[in-house]
Amino acid sequence: MLTADNHTRKRIETILGKAGVSTFQGETIRARIEAGSWLADCPCKGAQYVRRGEQMLCGDCGADHDVEFPPPKKQERIEHLLGLRPNQVNRNWTPGETVEDLEAENIDHGVWEDM
Ligand SMILES: [Zn+2]
Repeated sequence: MLTADNHTRKRIETILGKAGVSTFQGETIRARIEAGSWLADCPCKGAQYVRRGEQMLCGDCGADHDVEFPPPKKQERIEHLLGLRPNQVNRNWTPGETVEDLEAENIDHGVWEDM
């Protein structure tokens, strides 16, 4: 239950978050790719662009999150395969997808790598 004090604290955290000030350490979030950009989703439903090695500060709730990326070689391969797709809106990846999944999708849509 949200008490009056909790409610006030939440509002202050939201205001500070929008001002770019972290107010608490949140959970670790796994990065995903949407339309060619790395993003992380906060449990509060806020989302931010993220980069390897940097924390995500949620501008909606003020939480700082560690962000987990795939291992560097896999990240490189994912970015390469998505980069082959001509339409940027189709450059999407979620942590559950494998490199093989992306290769199969590319082939299904006639996107081939130069050998
Ligand atoms: Zn948030």
